[in-house]
Amino acid sequence: MLKTAKDFAKKPKKYFVELNKNISLQNITYNKKLLEKAYYFSLNRHNNQYRESGEPFASHPYAVANILIELKLDHQSIITALLHDTVEDGVATNEEIIENFGLEINQLVQGVTKLSKIQLPNSDVREASNFSKFILAICKDIRVLIIKLADRLHNMRTLKYVKNIARRQKIAKETLEVYAPLAGRVGFQVMKEELEELAFKEINNEAFQSIYKRTLFLRKQNKNFINETISNIKNIIDQNNEYEISGREKKIYSTWKKMLRKSISLEKVSDIYAFRIITNSINDCYKVLGIIHTTWTMIPDRFKDFISTPKPNGYQSIHTTVIGNNGTKMELQIKSKNMHQLAEYGVASHWIYKNSQDTKQIGEINKGTRWFQDVLDIIKTAGGPRELIEYSRMDMYSDNVFCFTPKGDVISLSKGETALDFAYAVHTNLGNSTIGAKINGNLTPLNTKVKNGDQIEIIRSKGTFPQQSWLNFCISGKARSQIRKFLRDHEEDEFEKLGKEILKKILLDVNKRATKKILTTLTKGFNYTSYRSFYVAIGRGEVLSESILNLLYQKNNKESLNKNNYKGLPIMGLKKGMAMHLAECCNPLLGESIVGILVEGKGIFVHLLNCSTLDRFSDFPELWYELMWHKNAGTFSQTSKINITLQNKVGSFHKVTSCIKKANANIVDLNVNKRSEDFFNIEVSLQVNSIKHLNDLIQFLKLEDCIYKVERK
Ligand code: MN
Repeated sequence: MLKTAKDFAKKPKKYFVELNKNISLQNITYNKKLLEKAYYFSLNRHNNQYRESGEPFASHPYAVANILIELKLDHQSIITALLHDTVEDGVATNEEIIENFGLEINQLVQGVTKLSKIQLPNSDVREASNFSKFILAICKDIRVLIIKLADRLHNMRTLKYVKNIARRQKIAKETLEVYAPLAGRVGFQVMKEELEELAFKEINNEAFQSIYKRTLFLRKQNKNFINETISNIKNIIDQNNEYEISGREKKIYSTWKKMLRKSISLEKVSDIYAFRIITNSINDCYKVLGIIHTTWTMIPDRFKDFISTPKPNGYQSIHTTVIGNNGTKMELQIKSKNMHQLAEYGVASHWIYKNSQDTKQIGEINKGTRWFQDVLDIIKTAGGPRELIEYSRMDMYSDNVFCFTPKGDVISLSKGETALDFAYAVHTNLGNSTIGAKINGNLTPLNTKVKNGDQIEIIRSKGTFPQQSWLNFCISGKARSQIRKFLRDHEEDEFEKLGKEILKKILLDVNKRATKKILTTLTKGFNYTSYRSFYVAIGRGEVLSESILNLLYQKNNKESLNKNNYKGLPIMGLKKGMAMHLAECCNPLLGESIVGILVEGKGIFVHLLNCSTLDRFSDFPELWYELMWHKNAGTFSQTSKINITLQNKVGSFHKVTSCIKKANANIVDLNVNKRSEDFFNIEVSLQVNSIKHLNDLIQFLKLEDCIYKVERK
């Protein structure tokens, strides 16, 4: 690690020699000439730039390169680290990088530059986890992410030099919420912890310092605790096996998290020590666990077996807490060598491990660009956890698309989702009032499929509502269910209104109003849970007016309806006592759509809704009365006229009369209008019960061979 590099620019050779030494110490195969070129390229291009610490800027990429060397990353990554800020700072172009260092390194530099431009928006934790996923999604090469993590680690190590407090807080927050979890996700446990400690120290320095003081106090009190415990453990587990036993103080941030999780005060914090037993095999892990649990009392809810059930990032280990000899709690981790290496150094560890024994393979790997694929292959053959492979592969979120709101919040969608899905993903209300969308500043149809990195602005309007047609292109479950819900609710609103109107009319006909008492009686009587659901049922026609009246009168023991309310005609919608006549121009029949017209001094004339006479009244809406036949009317004899054209032959006439007789209708009058050689035209006045009765009769007549035409007049 670079301690201080004020003399960095003055002694370039010295630092270059040190870089070479570090690489050699880690047995990393590399091209010295290219490294030298990159080293001086960075030094020259960042020539006049300084960090807030006063160090020459080039000391930063140099430090990042050294972090990667510590992690045993490959030659290309180390070179990229040296160059990683040149393009972003505008002191070099991608063309220059390609020309001097080739396409692969340029791609890595581009990847890191792209990542550096993305910043965590000020939003909640859920967004932060989306943001982490987004970063993984746009990193096609895991080395880009690792270089970025090393970059962040060095920036965090030097964060104290940044003068702007708000900026420092933002960087620390981003580190804690995004980069530390990412480091954990790719398996860099050590780096994750360091990032957390540094970030926590910045974000909550007060808490950091108090826990630190407590740790110092406990350290003094238990001077030899770690060593004693290690020898205690050694005494009870198999002496013949070479187990690696170590103990350490827990990290301050992890103590803090535990305090929060268990709501314990600082004075109660005592088990700040964690011990680790590293065995040679999985079998040994369980063997050691058995011995420990039979020697010391285990604390039940603290036992976790991540060997049989690895964490999502592939982490494997057994965690347990026991009460040791002198009554102190001890936290123990038991894992195999392989598991340990994987946890400490991440995905690269298998590669390093394998390669240190197989020099031929190093050469092959360094030849091509398949570095990461090779790591994966090695993990596969080494039987590493499947989850890890899934997570390390950079296409792990290939089914996801990450988009931005105008404020910069990241929204995670599935592939194929549209701008409208995006609106619903942001908020249901936004989705429901959407009228348009702008993707990257351009107006686009709502069914446009969104792409990774799109910035989407939803245009909304208060007066608009979700459309049925949206269901044709909306994909996400949330959007679809919200649209359906809206359409259903909206429909219910309409039915509720209609139901209210209908009930008002029904009650008006019997001189009642929809009082609370009546409404409660009806709603309960029909087994509805709310007025609204009752109104909706009326509106939908699920509760008929006759049943409403039946219920009311059955309850109130009043006189029968007919007697009480009908003035001759079984028609509703009129005030009691108003005279009513069926208009002779159209002779409306029971069951037909009707309307009433008020004629001064004479009363209401009932017309068919499509009667041509009504045209004369179209400018006088105040004369129109909405009317309905009462459904309880039963049979109601009325006169209607039909015209029949029939063949002029013997027996035709008889067939007409017998048909009418069979249909149970009465002939009131009959006139022959026309008579020719071939046919008669006759007009028949009939007594029928309803429009249905008449229609049935007409169909009946039409079946006769001798009848050409039947029409209602
Ligand atoms: Mn940097």
